[in-house]
Amino acid sequence: MKLGVFSDVHGNIEALRAVMAALRRAGATRFACCGDVVGYGPNPAEVVAEIQQLGAATVAGNHEWGVVGRLARGDFNAAAWSALCWTRTVLTASDRDWLGGLPPVVDIGPDRLVHAAPSDPGGWDYVISTARAGEELAGFGGRVCFAGHTHQPLAVARRNDGPAERLAPDQLVLEPGTRYFLNPGSVGQPRDGDPRAGCLLFDDAVGTVEFLRVEYDIAAVRDRMRRAGLPRTLADRLEVGR
Ligand code: ZN
Repeated sequence: MKLGVFSDVHGNIEALRAVMAALRRAGATRFACCGDVVGYGPNPAEVVAEIQQLGAATVAGNHEWGVVGRLARGDFNAAAWSALCWTRTVLTASDRDWLGGLPPVVDIGPDRLVHAAPSDPGGWDYVISTARAGEELAGFGGRVCFAGHTHQPLAVARRNDGPAERLAPDQLVLEPGTRYFLNPGSVGQPRDGDPRAGCLLFDDAVGTVEFLRVEYDIAAVRDRMRRAGLPRTLADRLEVGR
């Protein structure tokens, strides 16, 4: 069965709907989310409802912890904190309960979902280098560890105790005896210079991975952010994917 994996939607319902359409067209029948459902974007409640409806396996990100009060103002930059405070005002109590109840780790057979580093899911480190991903894989007993948090696609492989190898985040064929650290990039706020929404398709039966980028209506989201009074810098970065 094909699993659609995505992360860091950050209240961007336009981007999430575009990603869902692309993943379904590509054959995904199940979905998994590596956290940061809310924060930054103008439609957090709609994104919560969509992910609940998908029945996506979902882990908590640092923005979930922020919105329910498990992280404080000092754990975020000013724009992020401002958006989180606004987000609290548009979520229902049941949305907040759902977000607050998300687990830090979900295992799907031999594969794992976390938001940041699997060695310390609540520490919120950024696994961005090949070396760090390799260290994470050294302590990981499964097959694929899916993570988000950096908003940049990443694919790193490690065969037994061999060196970590960086792979192009494109099409992969998983090899037996090899562990993988895969970040699908961000749906709602990409930061790798490509403003299109990121996600990936994982066929866990045959062991293939396909990273996808999907266009969506960025102007509509920017407009909604402006009307909601969200920080201008957060809207501007959607255009450039940084
Ligand atoms: Zn994020």
